[in-house]
Amino acid sequence: VAKEQGDGLYHFYDNLIENERAESMQLEADLRRALHGGQFRLYYQPKIDAASREIIGAEALLRWLHPDFGSVPPDKFIPLAENSGIILDIDEWVLREACRQNKQWQDDGLARFPVAVNISARHFYQNNLIPMITRTLRETGLEPKYLVLEITEGMLIRNVEYSVRVLEELRQMGIHISMDDFGTGYSSLSQLDRLPLSEMKLDRSFLSGLLEDSRKSSIVRAVIELGHHMDLQVVAEGIEASEELEYLTELECDQFQGYFFSKPLPSKEFIMFVKHWIA
Ligand code: C2E
Ligand code: MG
Ligand code: MG
Ligand code: MG
Repeated sequence: VAKEQGDGLYHFYDNLIENERAESMQLEADLRRALHGGQFRLYYQPKIDAASREIIGAEALLRWLHPDFGSVPPDKFIPLAENSGIILDIDEWVLREACRQNKQWQDDGLARFPVAVNISARHFYQNNLIPMITRTLRETGLEPKYLVLEITEGMLIRNVEYSVRVLEELRQMGIHISMDDFGTGYSSLSQLDRLPLSEMKLDRSFLSGLLEDSRKSSIVRAVIELGHHMDLQVVAEGIEASEELEYLTELECDQFQGYFFSKPLPSKEFIMFVKHWIA
């Protein structure tokens, strides 16, 4: 049932754990069918500039419209898909669809800003990453400067040598890199400094208790300063309340994303939102 928001799906696969092989084969078959059967959708969530309050980008977020379980959020199936190779095909589909859609918006005069795509660990550490991105940009006709790759802090620091090499190549192509979920990866500051990044997204966990807890707010203040010292745009994810927005504006956060502005929306509704947005 759709209203279960994928919980049914989760329990379904969970209950199969006793038979792990059957579980992963079933899931892989379902995901493959989902991919080829058009059950995946990209939703888009706006990114708002703190100073101008304009929409300056969108993050593409994957949804699985399961015929029995309704809209399944990625946290429910991405980890499962990572265990089987299918995540590579999913990530490739996401990248292509996001680039295609952004090019379409631009051609239709509806929007002109970068789209951000989340990259899985498996995909990031795969050796055909750069050729695949190059090919996708060429085939969709999207200019590289309109693509942002979101890579988590944890993934980037797993192998810094590798990350520096890949990121430098991507930067030369004109693609921007956003470090996602910052504050969850325990990176050392000296290593962070080596990565050619454009932005840092503060993990949503920084927001909880921010307004009540003065220790927490000094940490967030210091993290934002760190980002600025590294010449990064600092993005706050998961803004739900106007007080959070005010406070993070005070702390000089550069960009915002969260339900306070909009939930992730299907492309048509997203474009409606963009049209009606008055900065
Ligand atoms: P993320 O990249 O850190 O994405 C932010 C998540 O926070 C999204 O969850 C978004 O819907 C949610 N969010 C945004 N604003 C708010 C808010 O105000 N309050 C709350 N409570 N949540 C908010 P979502 O879409 O469920 O995605 C979860 C994670 O799944 C993402 O975290 C990302 O790591 C992964 N993911 C999503 N789409 C893809 C994809 O296409 N490919 C890959 N490999 N991973 C994806
Ligand atoms: Mg992200
Ligand atoms: Mg994040
Ligand atoms: Mg995340």
